Amino acid sequence: MVYTGRFAPSPTGPLHFGSLLAAIASYLDARAHKGRWLLRIEDLDPPREVEGASDSILKTLEQFGLHWDGEVIRQSDRYAIYSDILSQLIQNDAAYRCGCSRQQIRKRSGGLLYDRYCRNNPPATDTHCAIRSRCDQDHPFYDRIQGHQQFSNQVEDFVIFRRDGFFAYQLAVTIDDAAQQISHIVRGSDLLDSTPKQIQLQQQLGYPQPVYAHIPVATNIRGQKLSKQTLAPALDEGQALQLIIRALDFLGQQPVAELTDSNIEECLSWASAHWDITAVPNQTGIILEDS
Ligand code: GLU
Repeated sequence: MVYTGRFAPSPTGPLHFGSLLAAIASYLDARAHKGRWLLRIEDLDPPREVEGASDSILKTLEQFGLHWDGEVIRQSDRYAIYSDILSQLIQNDAAYRCGCSRQQIRKRSGGLLYDRYCRNNPPATDTHCAIRSRCDQDHPFYDRIQGHQQFSNQVEDFVIFRRDGFFAYQLAVTIDDAAQQISHIVRGSDLLDSTPKQIQLQQQLGYPQPVYAHIPVATNIRGQKLSKQTLAPALDEGQALQLIIRALDFLGQQPVAELTDSNIEECLSWASAHWDITAVPNQTGIILEDS
């Protein structure tokens, strides 16, 4: 098997320390395996997209020495492919139309999980609909950092096409990981509970299952993940080396003191030669002191 990893940022703002962690961890794991590291821009949600963010992400990755292999893939170029596969899932009865509003679901079932109402009560053909995956089964999996994972109380018919007309993340990410032949996924643990949904779709579509590793996410003192919403600052390119060393420390890699006198390239090459995924803390979140 050829190791193929990826980094898949959504262009909702410039890269911040939280996204740098996912970029560096996936990059180092790929390089340590002498594998490929691909870049995919997940511009699937135009209302959340920020103009210029996609270019700024590419520029920052280059300035941090994180050079990807091959062409950058953009999800916005792939709607026709998602659409064909969506029709295939509906035809195979693996997915169905759902016209329920959040309010209706909340009223019927308390709102935590979808009650599968539209499985047996198909909405009228002219109703504005979401599409849901038919999901009867839990999909436990082994994570290289977090160990055995099971989300039995979250099994539900999840949305793969949104009522507002956009393809859902779960569908696009599953299709693209298979299309790019991704063998190993390294990403933030905020996506741990998305993994069973993606495994479900892989099984429905006959795709191979990648190997997963979910790194802890960096949080502020209130336990909130660093993100645009929690006002995480953009990465300062002038501090690239220091930030990479800080990321290595966060990822449990014990960067040696001499790295502070190295350059970015030397630092990343030390880090890929010494990469030890078993040293990454098996926590889902770690508070970042000065955030
Ligand atoms: N696009 C997602 C994000 O930026 C990551 C998707 C993934 O790694 O599976 O949070």
